[in-house]
Amino acid sequence: MSFPVDETHAPTLRSWVASADAHPEFPIQNLPFGIFSPAGGDPRAGVAIGSQILDLRAAAGAGLLPDVAVAALGVATLNGLLGLPAGDRLALRRRLSALLCDDAHRGAVEPLLHDSGSCTLHLPAAIGDYTDFYVGIHHATNVGRLFRPDNPLLPNYKYVPIGYHGRASSVRPSGVPVVRPKGQSKSPQADAPSFGPSRRLDYELELGIWIGPGNGLGQSIDIHDASQHIAGFCLLNDWSARDLQAWEYQPLGPFLAKNFQTTVSAWVVTSEALAPFRLAQPARPEGDPRPLDYLWDEGDQGHGALAVELEVFLLTQKMRAAGLPPYRLSRGPASNMYWTVAQIVTHHASNGCNLNPGDLLGTGTISAPRKDGYGSLLEISAGGAEPRELPNGETRTFIEDGDEIILSGRAHAEGRVSIGFGECRARILAAS
Ligand code: MN
Repeated sequence: MSFPVDETHAPTLRSWVASADAHPEFPIQNLPFGIFSPAGGDPRAGVAIGSQILDLRAAAGAGLLPDVAVAALGVATLNGLLGLPAGDRLALRRRLSALLCDDAHRGAVEPLLHDSGSCTLHLPAAIGDYTDFYVGIHHATNVGRLFRPDNPLLPNYKYVPIGYHGRASSVRPSGVPVVRPKGQSKSPQADAPSFGPSRRLDYELELGIWIGPGNGLGQSIDIHDASQHIAGFCLLNDWSARDLQAWEYQPLGPFLAKNFQTTVSAWVVTSEALAPFRLAQPARPEGDPRPLDYLWDEGDQGHGALAVELEVFLLTQKMRAAGLPPYRLSRGPASNMYWTVAQIVTHHASNGCNLNPGDLLGTGTISAPRKDGYGSLLEISAGGAEPRELPNGETRTFIEDGDEIILSGRAHAEGRVSIGFGECRARILAAS
């Protein structure tokens, strides 16, 4: 089943919250969920509307929300909300849309709004597990070529959605700085490795998937039902220390090169909100194998990709001091994924591994085929060989202390009001 495009997506829909009108990220058609603290208040669930946040805990307390959602909103994480059956989340969305559009509700709802500029955003869920995939085929090919020039894609790539288990404890919301990691690296010329701050610190542009109801241990998720288990999406930056990675990654894959911190945008953009922004999964190149049956669904192939434009910006310390705007490093569509998000979820659960509400999956770095759409500095600088020149005369191969990386994402479709993901940004601090 896919999610319906309904009256909550209508381009003509207007909220009485004035700032929602033509808001680039959070118009009435979006309604993303998050956890926020108002000034002087404790963390609670909220929904973004224009430049305001509606306090969902207070709305539930005032009897304004459907009963099915109320129990899930009494706590300061969204796990319960994400775990609701998709139909209940849809009912909540329709109710919120009505509350924020119908003037009859304005008197009851307006006092429950907070100016988002005065609020603090937190992680939306208590993340039990975080898994990162590798489905950006242009990234996998570019990186594979750096490590293995004549054999960039390993033979399993076109059969298996490749992934590894990441670290949930170090996931942080947008805005929390990242301390440059230290670790072992070994240059090709050196006889032995050394330990110290990473000198090849990088970002990875990814989409994050927030798991909904999930599956019990020993059960699996049928590909036909997978979309029901995807509650929503975020932007995800899988910070990566390339020098540590190159030395440690064989034979078991990424470890300390990636688990020092992962940054996510704080709002959960729901699958329901993204219903008008689905695309056919791009056809596989001629000669590629058909996915095995457990990963194949005609409906998923028909609308399993997302019409989201992704961008990465860099703001260096010098640029910030000079009052210059962030510089765009890349721009490209999220459809450059070899596997759909439904295939990722189905594959993860296919062996009976249980996925839980609020688990986080990363897609893997999403690169476009051309250099202006590459999703990491490793690719942009060709492994450090080709520095990128910035407008102010600085150059970058990898990230320097004081640099800030900003990811952004916008869903677009003909005749639809675009919606955004909110900020996913963080600044790099010197190693401690
Ligand atoms: Mn990654």
